[in-house]
Amino acid sequence: MGVQSERLDAPALREDFPILEREFDGTPLVYLDNAATSQTPERVVESISDYYYRYNANVHRGIHNLSQEASIAYEEAHDTVAEFIGAAGREEVVFTKNTTEAMNTVAYAWGLNELGPGDEVVLTEMEHHASLVTWQQIAKKTGAECRFIPITDDGYLDMNAAADLITDDTRMVSVVHASNTLGTVNPVRELADIAHDHGAYIFVDGAQSAPHMEIDVAELDCDFFAFSAHKVCGPTGIGALYGKEEILEAMEPYLYGGDMILKVTFEDSQWNELPWKFEAGTPNIAQAIGFAEAVEYVEDVGIDRIHRHSTDLAAYAYDRLTEYDDVEVYGPPADDRGPLVAFNVDGVHAHDLSSIVNDYGVAIRAGDHCTQPLHDVLGATASARASFYLYNTESEVDALVEAVNEARQLFA
Ligand code: PMP
Repeated sequence: MGVQSERLDAPALREDFPILEREFDGTPLVYLDNAATSQTPERVVESISDYYYRYNANVHRGIHNLSQEASIAYEEAHDTVAEFIGAAGREEVVFTKNTTEAMNTVAYAWGLNELGPGDEVVLTEMEHHASLVTWQQIAKKTGAECRFIPITDDGYLDMNAAADLITDDTRMVSVVHASNTLGTVNPVRELADIAHDHGAYIFVDGAQSAPHMEIDVAELDCDFFAFSAHKVCGPTGIGALYGKEEILEAMEPYLYGGDMILKVTFEDSQWNELPWKFEAGTPNIAQAIGFAEAVEYVEDVGIDRIHRHSTDLAAYAYDRLTEYDDVEVYGPPADDRGPLVAFNVDGVHAHDLSSIVNDYGVAIRAGDHCTQPLHDVLGATASARASFYLYNTESEVDALVEAVNEARQLFA
């Protein structure tokens, strides 16, 4: 592996991912669905199989050797993830099933207890359903109100509107860091400052930013941050909820049971220390170990280099696709977007497009990408989305563009 300032060597990195050698009827796989889930390098798979082959045991419950080894690896995985996002330590990192569960943890543990009539939760029009549906439903249960920061015509957050919408009635600002549809990267530090000026918390949905951007939760000054391992070269079934220690300390747990307690009597219970207070029951031990290995892999490759590589590919895809007059790419211009392009071709439904493109071995996503209200704002029922990661190449973008062109001609 070279020094960080060098450009990333995608063809060499591809060798870490056996799945990328797959072919369908002799056509090589071109995997451009990384915003949905990334592929898993061999060393991450090995870290998981090593746990099962060598030290599979429940954590925090046994004093035998295997349990001790498993417990240490599980706990240290929290340290690794904490370091990855700039958290102060393991007490600020709760392992959840994914970003969605992290969001629900705060919504149930904090929102249900704290929100009431007259309180407001401010979201954005580009929220993923993970945040939008969660706060919408908690607002319904508590009598709070959700308000949405609109987007501008070119896919940015309207920050003037944000300044008006966030008021002293706002208790929580929940904002996606990098949009999984528009590719917009939102000014979360600025939003954090506005939220804090009004005494509100800010929850940053980092599902699409953590895989690609250096995250420093202290610098972002966010109160909560969440992301999923499966988009950062890790396994499914595990994600992280970061919360500022004093906030997590004050929050009630919402899942009760084993491991999250310190002392139990028939009458009452005392909670365990952080982060275990929020990790009831047997956790996803193997996945946690794979998660830590994955973020170490990504750090070894170099997050800045990954960012540059993936956003260069997205800019190239943007430029090539918009050469066709009948293709619309949503969101900010080529030189100011995250590593994905969501688009539509006039007269071709996104599902048909994705199916034709699949015939050329190119895996992209079609649908609403869990942003239905955003699609309403865009005036589209669905879109096709190509999203890039460290192992993608320019020739794969060419393969995408050629396949899209075939689809255009088929429907012309
Ligand atoms: N937020 C954003 C911006 C996402 O892109 C996703 C995944 N599509 C999520 C949240 C939810 O992630 P998960 O399904 O892993 O909970």
